[in-house]
Amino acid sequence: TSAQIGVTGLAVMGRNLARNFARNGYTVAVHNRTVARTNALMEEFGHEGEFVATETAKEFVAALERPRRLMIMVKAGEPTDTVIQEFAPLLEPGDMIIDGGNAHFADTRRRERALREQGIHFVGTGVSGGEEGALHGPSIMPGGSKESYESLGPMLEKISAKANDGAPCVTHVGPDGAGHFVKMVHNGIEYADMQLIGEAYQLLRDVAGYSPAQIADIFRTWNTGRLDSYLIEITAEVLSHVDAATGKPFVDIVEDRAEQKGTGRWTVQIALDLGVPVSGIAEAVFARSLSGHADLRAASRGLAGPKATQLGEAAAFADRVEQALYASKIVSYTQGFHEITAGSTEYDWNIDLGAVASIWRGGCIIRAAFLDRIRAAYDARPDLPSLLSDETFAQEIAAAQDDWREVLVAATRQGVPTPGFSAALAYYDALRAERLPAALTQGQRDFFGAHTYRRTDREGSFHTLWGGDRSEVEA
Ligand code: NDP
Repeated sequence: TSAQIGVTGLAVMGRNLARNFARNGYTVAVHNRTVARTNALMEEFGHEGEFVATETAKEFVAALERPRRLMIMVKAGEPTDTVIQEFAPLLEPGDMIIDGGNAHFADTRRRERALREQGIHFVGTGVSGGEEGALHGPSIMPGGSKESYESLGPMLEKISAKANDGAPCVTHVGPDGAGHFVKMVHNGIEYADMQLIGEAYQLLRDVAGYSPAQIADIFRTWNTGRLDSYLIEITAEVLSHVDAATGKPFVDIVEDRAEQKGTGRWTVQIALDLGVPVSGIAEAVFARSLSGHADLRAASRGLAGPKATQLGEAAAFADRVEQALYASKIVSYTQGFHEITAGSTEYDWNIDLGAVASIWRGGCIIRAAFLDRIRAAYDARPDLPSLLSDETFAQEIAAAQDDWREVLVAATRQGVPTPGFSAALAYYDALRAERLPAALTQGQRDFFGAHTYRRTDREGSFHTLWGGDRSEVEA
């Protein structure tokens, strides 16, 4: 038997992807460093389709039809390099190594370059949807060569999630690291979405006075409208869950310290390198970091807060929070797509933004009805300078902004932190501003460092002799 695809690394993700391939009629060779995992897969799920269980690297490679398609689902980082080094010498020109782990796109670029010299296609592939997605259909973001996608694409389309219109949630994102880059930004946007939802929850709780169960119902209602999304749906589930041991709301017995694995941080680090303002994503990463500083928080607990003020009607406030959440969400996607545009330009990836929005409609963590609107916006105008310049989104923000501002006034008065909502509004107001204080910044820089400035009325660079007679010289 020769397998159409091989999967090595059979922890939750690899095992479920292998099963997904097999359930879709492919013959799948399976391999894992520790053979026990391979055996467990065969015992539990071997009946689901055609598997070829292998123990050694040689056996694994020999089980694959040519050109070989070998998928790696091991721990990101060094383990991935170890596994590549183990298999690459056994492969031939034209073979493909697909890395479905959460690799940093710079590592993917490095690996792709090295393997290309051997004639091997290295396909760094973002996979989103967690364990369930891997089994039932993830959103898949492959990079690598066009040629490799011709061979792999049909298989990936088969195992991927399908959007509402039936379109597979996979596309050839672009060469080398493009797929992992887009997966990284997906995760950054996921952080922002979660933070914004968290802020909405806290406002409904601390400002409007709703209980977790009531807030769950509010989220359920929101989920029938324009906020319809997986994250809103699971938020309602988490909020209505009651702890069996204490009878208390689950959210009240969980430690309020958010952890992270690093993809959100990468999104912000790379945005800083590329000069892209992703303030909403950055605030989301910082909010998790702040939550983890237990000592700092304990030491600050006695700091003064505002006097309690009266809130109007709670239901009306909840409607405003929905507006604020939606407007802030538009801004964080605007920032995320800006980062993809900047990466695409920097690395010559030629990424189709409409296609990215399209493959995020199903399977992945940020899947949402909203993404279909982003797809439509980019399909109508592929050169859209920013999502905010799309007429529909601009109108929606225009309609939401009064409520958005009111919510932030209430949050400020009550002392409820809203870094995500606030950063989003500041970004919006800064972009639409006629003049920014950056002119003053330039003046200060010229004053202390003779860094020069440009004038609004003439070409050229100028410097004012601040320490002298303050006349202006051309720099
Ligand atoms: P883990 O990240 O926990 O990795 C465990 C697997 O890696 C095991 O098969 C393990 O083999 C193998 N491994 C670790 N080190 C080595 C090594 N030095 N040499 C060979 N094999 C090694 O598994 P997951 O299934 O959670 O994730 C797999 C990949 O998918 C990761 O890159 C992860 O970031 C990514 N991912 C995970 C998602 C999730 O929801 N979990 C979602 C999307 C992507 P052994 O059994 O022998 O220890």
